[in-house]
Amino acid sequence: MTRPSGVAVLGSTGSIGVSTLDVVSRHPGRFKVVALGAHSNLQRLREQCLVHKPRFAVLTDTTAAAQLKSDLAAAGLATQVLAGGAALSEIAAHPEVEYVMAAIVGAAGLASTLAAAAAGKRVLLANKEALVMSGPLLMQMVSSGGATLIPIDSEHNAIFQCLPVSPGTVTGTPGNRGVRRILLTASGGPFLRTPERDLVGVTPEQACAHPRWVMGRKISVDSATLMNKGLELIEACLLFAVPPSLVEIVVHPQSIVHSLVEYLDGSVLAQLGNPDMRTPIAHALGWPERLESGVESLNLIKVGRLDFEAPDPDRFPALRLARAAAEAGGTAPAVLNAANEIAVAAFLERRLAFTRIPAVIEEVMNAHPIVPVKALGDVLAADAWARQRATSVLTPFAGAVR
Ligand code: NAD
Ligand code: MG
Repeated sequence: MTRPSGVAVLGSTGSIGVSTLDVVSRHPGRFKVVALGAHSNLQRLREQCLVHKPRFAVLTDTTAAAQLKSDLAAAGLATQVLAGGAALSEIAAHPEVEYVMAAIVGAAGLASTLAAAAAGKRVLLANKEALVMSGPLLMQMVSSGGATLIPIDSEHNAIFQCLPVSPGTVTGTPGNRGVRRILLTASGGPFLRTPERDLVGVTPEQACAHPRWVMGRKISVDSATLMNKGLELIEACLLFAVPPSLVEIVVHPQSIVHSLVEYLDGSVLAQLGNPDMRTPIAHALGWPERLESGVESLNLIKVGRLDFEAPDPDRFPALRLARAAAEAGGTAPAVLNAANEIAVAAFLERRLAFTRIPAVIEEVMNAHPIVPVKALGDVLAADAWARQRATSVLTPFAGAVR
């Protein structure tokens, strides 16, 4: 029997991280958890370490890491505990690790995702923000590092499943594949039917109560503003080497059809399934084979109907902003992403109204002189600039006596 493949789960304490460990646990002969990484959720990481006995555990919060170290030693575990952000990149590139689940939320996951790509790992990419920020750089690093990038985002995993794969290539294959259009489906989020005048007062609790998916708070807010779909539009263009004009967004409230690819001959291929992230996770872990994921069979009779409609650009301006960033390229997507991260955090802390999220992003984007991205420094500079600018847009009177 062959030796189990080493897996590192970065962002293990989050929604995707927990689903990944669930799928991995179903295949003990095939996978071995070598490393777990997270920010500060000591209790959950400790539990995960006790179950999976990884060789490494990382917490970027140093106080929590010190506590984890003493807890695991007291439990008699040989797990080596590391602290700080650089340790995430170290474990992402570790020789015993073959598969890296990149499931840290936001720009915080960029460095470790790049490290996994440069080290030639199979990168299971959930951390869409890393791709949106660094765009062609990450894709170049995947090919120069000999990595295999498989999308975890359910829509992109669906598109990947509907595209022909030529030997040796997975994503980012330009050329004539006969694709006419990519149809990216969107659930529409919790406010699909909320009148515009009521959106201003929505609370973080309402925004995070997604009708179909249980997810982390940041992506839940992104799904409510539809910025999640905007980021996914950029993600699709990068992963599959298509221009934004070829990607159409279709609202599909049931979240059963995860996306579609239309070919020149009129054929439209779709991937369907229950809305459960264990399906794309198992697909990416097993590819090109298929693995049991624990996901229930799709009961089409119970689902009954599949509806499709156009998104409303007036209530959801995030789509327009993201499409503009996708078309502009260069540092524009990094700026969009950074301004969005700041605005969403402010909304979650009740410092910003829901409807102001796209307004803040637009203000930052309008003030940004877009430059081409030649090196990582260009991305990091744009990210830092946009965060600062968004913060000052949020607090125009900071320092003033009010
Ligand atoms: P989550 O909030 O549930 O988990 C986030 C994880 O990232 C946690 O483990 C947390 O410890 C870690 N983290 C946060 N900040 C960090 C930092 N500064 N340094 C190191 N680690 C940090 O989020 P999630 O819903 O699991 O989403 C994770 C990623 O996957 C996001 O990029 C999201 O867009 C993407 N994604 C999620 C889903 C989903 O269904 N949840 C679907 C598609 C894509
Ligand atoms: Mg998605």
